[in-house]
Amino acid sequence: METRPDGAPLMVCKYCLLYELGHCRKHNPMKNEPRHLRMANDTLLDIIFDCKNCEMQIWEHKQ
Ligand SMILES: [Zn+2]
Repeated sequence: METRPDGAPLMVCKYCLLYELGHCRKHNPMKNEPRHLRMANDTLLDIIFDCKNCEMQIWEHKQ
């Protein structure tokens, strides 16, 4: 799992978007996983998947 050196995620979801898409890393890994989430107000967020724990972290997007 990728880790961020500082700060905390905006949100940790007990829900895996990859699983929803049928591409959980545990079962059916995907070549080009989604890395970002674009909100309705055009804010870009980073997604970090933690399939080992079936969690997904949402981070503020950093350039
Ligand atoms: Zn998963």
